[in-house]
Amino acid sequence: MTCDEADILLHALIDGELDAGHAREVENHVAACKRCTADLKAYREMKAAVTTADVRFTAPSHLRQRIEAAIPRSRGTSRRSLLAGFAMGSVVSAIAATGLVAIVLRDDDERRIASEVVSAHLRSLQAGHLTDVLSTDQHTVKPWFNGRLDVSPPVIDLTALGFTLIGGRLDYIDGRAIGAVVYKRRAHVINLFVAQTPNATHSAARTEDIQGFNIRRWRDHGLSLWAVSDLNADELAEFSEKFEKAMQANGNG
Ligand SMILES: [Zn+2]
Repeated sequence: MTCDEADILLHALIDGELDAGHAREVENHVAACKRCTADLKAYREMKAAVTTADVRFTAPSHLRQRIEAAIPRSRGTSRRSLLAGFAMGSVVSAIAATGLVAIVLRDDDERRIASEVVSAHLRSLQAGHLTDVLSTDQHTVKPWFNGRLDVSPPVIDLTALGFTLIGGRLDYIDGRAIGAVVYKRRAHVINLFVAQTPNATHSAARTEDIQGFNIRRWRDHGLSLWAVSDLNADELAEFSEKFEKAMQANGNG
């Protein structure tokens, strides 16, 4: 395990999100590495400081009275209408939940979706958000998606080809849950977002630059794929070419 890999896992370790095997791997690395020992200590101290900091503030009662006096008394907000509101809320939640399996994205607004893809990439880089399932084994990552998505994304181990499989996660693009497969090239994270598309035609990959990130998108086997990274355009193209080739060889992942 390299320091870069360990660094991603340290946060998960602190938050108790690692399985025993991965936790042991990280701990073994930390035991032998001064830099990661120092990082782990710093992360633990930061977490402890945030946990113990008294950030709750109780407003004085005169402030509460002034606010209550300033708000007009609402008429007719009975407990019943409140409960009806909650019931409606749970209907909406239920509909949103069924959205989890409907991962067909429209292609009409490509620019907006591309910028959502970049936002999702940025979100994923925040500590603890990169992977829901952390594994370098495609036979662990692939089944993890089954049951969470109608169509689980092709998970292809490209480690031997220079792109390390890190894991996968559920993400949200265009208000829908889709699968993201996570790779690393040196210190660069590559998020590969995969969604079903009603458009079955194959479209060749092309790269664009959005907000300083390279985003490479293509369509294949009824899937829309976006690879996003701060990796340079040439290497990201290399990634998508190797992925496409492997996908063909694997018979669609
Ligand atoms: Zn280290």
